[in-house]
Amino acid sequence: MQPGLTDQVVLITGGGAGLGQAAAIEAAKRGAKLSLVDVNQDALEESKRLILEENHDTEVLLLKADVSDEEAVKKYVKDTVDHFGRIDGFFNNAGIEGKQNLTEDYDSEMFSKVIDINLKGVFYGMKHVLPIMKKQERGYIVNTSSVGGIRAVMNQVAYGASKHAVAGMTKDAAIEYAAKGISVNAIAPGAILTDMVRGSFKQIDPDNWEQAAEEFVQENPAKRLGKPEEVASLVAYLLSGEAPFINGAIIPIDGGQSAKY
Ligand code: NAD
Repeated sequence: MQPGLTDQVVLITGGGAGLGQAAAIEAAKRGAKLSLVDVNQDALEESKRLILEENHDTEVLLLKADVSDEEAVKKYVKDTVDHFGRIDGFFNNAGIEGKQNLTEDYDSEMFSKVIDINLKGVFYGMKHVLPIMKKQERGYIVNTSSVGGIRAVMNQVAYGASKHAVAGMTKDAAIEYAAKGISVNAIAPGAILTDMVRGSFKQIDPDNWEQAAEEFVQENPAKRLGKPEEVASLVAYLLSGEAPFINGAIIPIDGGQSAKY
């Protein structure tokens, strides 16, 4: 049986595309009410359309916000609680890759931008959601780290720094709140076919990103890219509270690539 999210309020950042959108669709299938946050309003509307296509009765709140702006984060948390009264699950997921480059050539402004969104955005999210969950004495947080948060990836010094930080913050918050009925975990996806990863392969080979992807997957034991729906299943499971003793874990979902020497 699929773990249920019936009537659970699930808040998702980066809910307008990729992993956030797939997780929203999966959570809706499992009965959740959704609060979706994204910086892109059109993307949010598209996610809502896709969710309602199959799950006509799902309640979906759309909130345009930039996760790197703490005031905007406070507001998306408040708006969610004002609307639904609680937050049961939080997929703290919005992030960007940044521009690939050698460390010595990495643009410092880009470095700050990646840190502001991927690291501070995740911190602000936890900072403002945790008090709500503490009051409820229950809640499940899933932060999005990356294989780049547990292993090195070429030309991604800012991304690697931010995603290792997400793994660290996840463990810190997990031990602080475990006795309050809250679990905090992170997922560490490998290359999953979303717009971000398409963009990443286009940075490697602008003229033939499919070829770059094909070469990349040869290193993967499963010889393929991951699918957003596979990540969505893992996220929905962690948010469902079926296994709350999973806490402080950084869970790779990468076809085994990060396990390989
Ligand atoms: P995506 O680009 O397909 O979707 C990201 C969404 O986040 C977009 O809708 C975008 O508008 C939104 N967003 C970007 N910056 C934002 C901001 N400042 N505030 C609010 N929303 C913002 O990317 P994705 O592949 O779905 O990635 C989602 C998360 O997963 C990211 O944290 C990414 O680093 C991580 N991740 C992805 C992969 C992968 O292979 N796709 C692998 C590892 C980790």
